[in-house]
Amino acid sequence: MNLEKVRNIGISAHIDSGKTTLSERILFYAGRIHKIEDVRGGGDGATMDHMELEKERGITITSAATSLKWTHLGEEYNVNLIDTPGHVDFTVEVERSLRVLDGAILVLCSVGGVQSQSITVDRQMKRYKIPRLAFINKMDRTGADPYRGLRELKDKLQADAFLMQLPIGREDNFKGVIDLIERKAYYFDGDNGETLRIEEPPAEMADEVEETRLSMLEALSMYSDEMMEKMLSEEEISTDLIYKVARKAVHAGATPVYMGSAYKNKGVQPLLDAVARYLTSPLDREIYGIDPKDETKKIPLSPDPNEPFVGMAFKIVDDEYGQLTYMRIYQGTCEKGGSYVNQRTGKKERFSRLVRMHSNKREEIETASAGDIIAVMGIDCASGDAYGPERNFCTLESMFIAEPVIKVS
Ligand code: GDP
Repeated sequence: MNLEKVRNIGISAHIDSGKTTLSERILFYAGRIHKIEDVRGGGDGATMDHMELEKERGITITSAATSLKWTHLGEEYNVNLIDTPGHVDFTVEVERSLRVLDGAILVLCSVGGVQSQSITVDRQMKRYKIPRLAFINKMDRTGADPYRGLRELKDKLQADAFLMQLPIGREDNFKGVIDLIERKAYYFDGDNGETLRIEEPPAEMADEVEETRLSMLEALSMYSDEMMEKMLSEEEISTDLIYKVARKAVHAGATPVYMGSAYKNKGVQPLLDAVARYLTSPLDREIYGIDPKDETKKIPLSPDPNEPFVGMAFKIVDDEYGQLTYMRIYQGTCEKGGSYVNQRTGKKERFSRLVRMHSNKREEIETASAGDIIAVMGIDCASGDAYGPERNFCTLESMFIAEPVIKVS
């Protein structure tokens, strides 16, 4: 697996902001041919069958981690969508599920703005330095205002937030978004946003586009001397440079803001493209375990498949097949039938089956390597347990990423 193209992400939101609806749409689009580049390339991927859409409504994330694929600019990304509990309280379970993420989408309601739960989860995410994008949902609602969301991200979360898009139309008349980097309008036509059309932005929005684009560039230039110098000397800034700096900014903690309506199927594909383009891969994080023999000693874990195996159980679910243990692999490779040592109990356990969970099926796999999230069958452990090649190899509980480092390149 190409780790650069792996995205372990969670969606965090205040209740009712549309986290479930957005997750469903993401699963829908990821399973389909709806790629923006298909449209750019004049392919036939633009039209979604209306009946299919109706049928797909109601697919929900039932698993703690769902694997999906998304193609962006001809490259395939493996996205693991991890269910992050939206509890207000600061629980070990929430912490654990946040620790396995490399990146996140923070969903806000266009009317409600930043609400209490977002503030709590944001605080937790900051602790683990999880890079994120914001998505202002429900742009079709009466009173929708992306600028309120933007302001509240800055005021209530002290986020370095800036708009990456502008809405075309508001409320009932919300038609799509303008991409401020490319200056392109994405219209999601049809009753269900089933047809994507990319055009020049409406002429009457030209001033607003330039003004908001400039604010975006100013915010980004704080992360790049090269861009800052170009801004000051009023030189042309290439889109390639903007993309590069935006990625760097996200890794350094900035919050680019996207928008749409999950319910109306508007704005989801550009959001997935941004996940692929900007969010962190397992290679971008430095992760440490703790030496069980000397708790002051940190052990660097390398996302190298050839190193000894280290994984952490982060969620345990009982279903009709028995106990399913969701695991994030931090180092090395585990094999179906292989035996690994539970670092807490010291017991060797056999991983009798390995599975990858998709929205509609579970896939049996033979091996899984660092950076991946899978489910293991046949083991009996507690959430938070680490597995390694031998006893006293490494523990992961409590402080293993207390000082996470995101590589900013
Ligand atoms: P969650 O609690 O964050 O998971 O929110 P849900 O996805 O369950 O959505 C809460 C409610 O908002 C449901 O009634 C959805 O149909 C509705 N909803 C979700 N997305 C949108 C949207 O884009 N526009 C509008 N108007 N309603 C939405």
